[in-house]
Amino acid sequence: MYRKLFNKIKNGEELRREDILSILTMDGWKDLETLYQFVQKEKWESVGNKVYLRGLIELSNICTQNCYYCGIRKGTKIDRFSISEENLIEYANKVVSSCIPSIVIQSGERRDEEFVSFIEYCLKKIKNIFPDLMVTLSLGEQTEEVYQRWAGAGADRYLLRIETSNRALFKKIHPREVSFDNRLKCLKVLRKTRYQVGTGVMIGLPGQTVDDLVSDILMFKELDIDMIGMGPYIPHVNTPLGKNIIAKFDEAQKIALVEKSLKMIAACRLYLKDVNIASTTALNTLSNDGFIKGIKAGANVIMPNFTDLKYRKSYNLYQGKAGVTEYNLGELEKKLLEIGEKIAWGEAGSSLHFKNRN
Ligand code: SAM
Repeated sequence: MYRKLFNKIKNGEELRREDILSILTMDGWKDLETLYQFVQKEKWESVGNKVYLRGLIELSNICTQNCYYCGIRKGTKIDRFSISEENLIEYANKVVSSCIPSIVIQSGERRDEEFVSFIEYCLKKIKNIFPDLMVTLSLGEQTEEVYQRWAGAGADRYLLRIETSNRALFKKIHPREVSFDNRLKCLKVLRKTRYQVGTGVMIGLPGQTVDDLVSDILMFKELDIDMIGMGPYIPHVNTPLGKNIIAKFDEAQKIALVEKSLKMIAACRLYLKDVNIASTTALNTLSNDGFIKGIKAGANVIMPNFTDLKYRKSYNLYQGKAGVTEYNLGELEKKLLEIGEKIAWGEAGSSLHFKNRN
């Protein structure tokens, strides 16, 4: 049934919308096995059998936004925290000491000058202490001026998920203040600043169709994205979107969602080839060895969490958020070796797509 598709992949022909749709709807185990063999071949040829690590630091769960799906939205009652400059340096130091030359600083969204200048100050300090450390920011929508200031202070990469390429669906999962057009504008501004730019979507949103997911992947190409971080949508009980569906979020749904997320990674690898793709915490939360499954499906980045547990507990975007810490990286490495992959210790792992473009 998929002979034409597999031939196309084998011959290196450019995939089209209908091919991506075939990948996302494939379900026979034999076909899937063949698909994942092609994916591994593509991954190893285009980005190698390497996995880049990024040390994730969750800076603050204070958020001015009220996204309907998110557990740290402004409207949810939780203990709020912001880590200090000293904590940030301490965690960055732990990352560097673990032979990982790359951090991701993520936070709830704030646009006030106090926050903007705090980040600017910390970036300068981090780059001063660890000049070779690559810094990715994931701090939401900002103005062009702010993106420039942070780039000027040393930020190298920026992650801003589009969440979904379907405007109507975007509107349904966000309050009026969060606009699809502004999100797109931010991604374009980031693109023309010197950042490596990452985006992504949530998979399995209520009302999302498989056609939407195909469009998401086509959009990544259209936006010429360097890095992709996408994962399953996991309901959170204290959110408008999650509270009514969480009771029905059973094992069968979780298994199907993991499968769908893996197929999204596979399709992205086959279609976009040289981009960095993360095997996300959300995937690892829904499935045992989710990180490893994501790598087998074509991802090449994992972001172990280096935030102290006392803060991490309150950065609860969704139910059961898990993560590997610096303490079980050895186990992660062992499992990766079993599937023929190795951790690229000491390598900053910039997106090849970005390097090729520049
Ligand atoms: N404030 C920044 C921003 O909006 O980009 C970074 C933090 S935000 C919490 C990071 C990402 O978490 C979002 O882009 C969203 O895709 C993801 N997220 C939030 N709630 C989620 C949920 N319930 N399930 C899965 N992912 C979720």
